[in-house]
Amino acid sequence: MEKVLKWAMNCEETARRISLSLDNELPWIQRLLLKMHFYMCAACRESARQVQDLHDAFRQMSHPFEQNESIHLPLSFKQHIVDELKKHQ
Ligand SMILES: [Zn+2]
Repeated sequence: MEKVLKWAMNCEETARRISLSLDNELPWIQRLLLKMHFYMCAACRESARQVQDLHDAFRQMSHPFEQNESIHLPLSFKQHIVDELKKHQ
């Protein structure tokens, strides 16, 4: 536990764990300590925000299908939806 508290105060360790936390690879206790560090350290809070932004942007690029379903759906499927909607009018 002492070791855990030690890295909670350490900016270098925090930076290393930020990316892990983004990928949900951190145990909850370490997430909690990460949040504690952000509470005390504005510099890491800011860098975490930037990393988060980049992470989100990257995720959107690597999963365009999820983000832009309307664009990537086949036309026939769209037509199917329109037909179904008409039936229920
Ligand atoms: Zn820090």
